[in-house]
Amino acid sequence: MTIKKVIKGSGYTAVNPDEVQFLENILVVINQAGKIERIVTPNEADYDDVLTAAPEVIELAPHQYLLPGFIDTHIHAPQWPNAGLALDRPLYQWLNDYTFPLEAKYQDLDFSRAVYDDLTKTLVSLGTTTAVYFGTIYPESNLVLAEMCDKNGQRSLIGQVSMDDPELNPEYYRDESAAASVAKAETFIKKLLAKNQEFTIPQTPVITPRFLPSCTLPALKGLGQLAKQYQLPIQSHCSESDWENNYALEKYGKRDTTVLAEAGLLNEHSIMAHGTLLNDEDFSKYQKAQASIAHCPISNVYFGDGILPVKRILQHQVNVGLGTDISGGYSPSLYDNMKQTILSSQQLQSGVDTRIATEKRGVANSRVSAKTAFYLATVGGAKATNLKIGEIKPGCFADLQVVEIKPKPYQPQSSDDNFESLIYNTNENNIKAVYVGGKQVK
Ligand SMILES: [Zn+2]
Repeated sequence: MTIKKVIKGSGYTAVNPDEVQFLENILVVINQAGKIERIVTPNEADYDDVLTAAPEVIELAPHQYLLPGFIDTHIHAPQWPNAGLALDRPLYQWLNDYTFPLEAKYQDLDFSRAVYDDLTKTLVSLGTTTAVYFGTIYPESNLVLAEMCDKNGQRSLIGQVSMDDPELNPEYYRDESAAASVAKAETFIKKLLAKNQEFTIPQTPVITPRFLPSCTLPALKGLGQLAKQYQLPIQSHCSESDWENNYALEKYGKRDTTVLAEAGLLNEHSIMAHGTLLNDEDFSKYQKAQASIAHCPISNVYFGDGILPVKRILQHQVNVGLGTDISGGYSPSLYDNMKQTILSSQQLQSGVDTRIATEKRGVANSRVSAKTAFYLATVGGAKATNLKIGEIKPGCFADLQVVEIKPKPYQPQSSDDNFESLIYNTNENNIKAVYVGGKQVK
């Protein structure tokens, strides 16, 4: 494979949930296909030859580090204008008074273009090189989202949102029937796959039943068949809150996980958001199906009715990615969501009600480290999307971010210290460059 460019510098990549590798003064060799062809370490004999032969060399400045681009595994693109609004309302009210009226505006394609252009630019500038989007119920508007991802250099998975149950969806914003939900999803899939011929970055359609309360069983089953027919990823929400979790129990006498599995929507291509109310039996089903959970820690503070036990889930061998859940969460930054993952896990471990005795207050062994949070934002997201991303290693797409952190002379400066500092202190200004498929997009 022809070599296109080489990035020279140091970086961090997650090896497993507890281990992050420091890659010191390496050469990241990027090929014509936008993938990492080779990582060359300074002790390799041809290090200098690789540098000399490279058509283009990008050398990181002192105090700059290379990280894999982040993967947002759960974000509602149309809700971007509402980020930070109405978070004090209960989920049902938040949906009906704020969210559905906004999503209904996306029949207007100019409005769609303006919002999606800004959103995709913002995410890329925050180091999010791949996003798993919920769109709206309008296929043409979702295609505009795909165009904006391609224009601004973001890899994406985009879902035509399906919601057909007249009981829980407003008349002005729902699919006319289960058959219409499935037909619209298929229209979107075909059009997006055709559009990919013009795109630089291929964008992936995702089967997207909004959540159990908004879909009838025939729609869920039809979407399950569609996922199988086109071999596509699937996303939805699962056991998000007490209200949502109880809804399935009352309607079907079964848990969310079981209903989704029976409809053909829980497999190795599934990314289910939240899961704060999942139990051990559900975790076993996720493990068997090799389905992933999108952890959205900021959103969970408002709507989750609990803290996702990330550590326990990883011990169940279930994959977890990280999501912003705009606008259930207020921040588009996965850095903010990594921090909240750590903070929420600390509170799960120590407990929050000081009237309860210390030893009974929290859940032991729940604390998540910065390394684990970084793993979720990179490798966890890559596993969830089944894409070759999320790591600095040969065979992966060169989806990378360059972050700069300048420790003061009196601050600790070991590679581990620098890593923690990067996780806690990086903001948009510290992210100096972003690459997707080896092409600079910031
Ligand atoms: Zn959501």
